[in-house]
Amino acid sequence: MQDIDILIIGAGVAGLTCAGLLNQQGIHPEIIEKETEETFNSTGYMLGLYPLGGRVLNALDARETYYDLSIEMETYEAHHPNGAIIKSYPLDFINEKYGSYRSITRQNLLNILFANVAPETVRFGTTVTKLEQDNGRVKVNFSQGDSERFDLVIIADGLHSKTRDLLLSKYEYSYNHTGWGGWVSWLHNEPTTTYKEYWGTSSFLGIYPVKNKTGVFLGGPISTIKKKGFINFAMEIQQDLLPGYELPNKALKSCCKDKNPFFWNFHDCKTETWYKGNVILLGDAATGFLPTAGVGASMAMDSAAALADELSRAHRDNIPYALELYTNRQKQRVETAQADSRKLAKIMFMKSSILSIIRNKLLPLYSLQQILSDLSKIMEGRSWE
Ligand SMILES: Cc1cc2nc3c(=O)[nH]c(=O)nc-3n(C[C@H](O)[C@H](O)[C@H](O)COP(=O)(O)OP(=O)(O)OC[C@H]3O[C@@H](n4cnc5c(N)ncnc54)[C@H](O)[C@@H]3O)c2cc1C
Repeated sequence: MQDIDILIIGAGVAGLTCAGLLNQQGIHPEIIEKETEETFNSTGYMLGLYPLGGRVLNALDARETYYDLSIEMETYEAHHPNGAIIKSYPLDFINEKYGSYRSITRQNLLNILFANVAPETVRFGTTVTKLEQDNGRVKVNFSQGDSERFDLVIIADGLHSKTRDLLLSKYEYSYNHTGWGGWVSWLHNEPTTTYKEYWGTSSFLGIYPVKNKTGVFLGGPISTIKKKGFINFAMEIQQDLLPGYELPNKALKSCCKDKNPFFWNFHDCKTETWYKGNVILLGDAATGFLPTAGVGASMAMDSAAALADELSRAHRDNIPYALELYTNRQKQRVETAQADSRKLAKIMFMKSSILSIIRNKLLPLYSLQQILSDLSKIMEGRSWE
């Protein structure tokens, strides 16, 4: 039984995974969450989870619920913007070699993770206003005006982390903006086990089934969408579709009808330093992801598991050493995945019609293993190669 007082900031994918795993070790962190109990976990979008992330749920003894609330993906298809297929890639090299590649809503994943923490350890509607290293401990001031001391503070408040600013200067992290963004909407149809993406010039349509419904993502360069207006942008893409391609047609219609679609700005974030003293960044707050490899949540869970593992052998007197070991073990792994997603973004987000025609012609020459080569290395624990 460890005796370490831990505060986790952010009850998202990374924070809840880490809290659940620490609970198993007899460490019961306090968790604070900016959202209130009423607004918490109301953001609905779809997540593809590589076994990298999904296998962490085995450790949380949540495999059965996870399988119940998600579906195994069998195929990934890349399409021309007119609907015709460029190439179909079976996902069995992942499913058979590494474990099930599954699709789930963020809400369901958070519900699974939340079930592993005691609700009374989560303080909703709370943020941190000040962090002060204090003789091997950290003094934390909360937004309600009270303060407390902890042996370790884990900052897991996501890509747009505000708490990071209490630890790092503006020069120690940077956002990488692609200039692209888009909207998530839902189709209430019979979902399949195929992810479909339509790669256009200055447009991108993704169709991502989860259990019982299908997530749709429509995006492009934000400046273009703003100039044309979202509905015109969607209608232009619809006009490019050849007759007979019903699914993308329906997906575009659902985007246009949705009164409150979730907007996603495509940028990521990289920090030079993951920890200072007894405070560590975790998940997107440490290294955030573009959507292109669909790996942010998986890496957040993988990192949470690595951190919980290092903490299982730590003593409260030597927390920075445990954080150093964790960082040495995980940072390069995460940054390799981020580099992979940035590489894919260059291929997927093209504004030049000539280049996107060449891309769509070259794509069939590559296998999915080649396209996701760095991710395969990460899944095999060879990210340093
Ligand atoms: C539309 C969309 C689709 C995606 N698809 C995929 C996918 O298919 N596969 C994949 O692997 N990844 C995907 N991702 C990325 C994935 O969601 C993130 O990488 C993952 O959620 C990161 O986990 P996290 O815990 O670091 O952050 P989050 O899950 O974002 O959690 C952060 C938590 O901190 C809380 N918080 C924020 N600020 C504060 C504060 N100041 N104080 C206290 N709490 C705070 C938030 O309310 C939230 O609960 C997608 C993301 C989006 C937006």
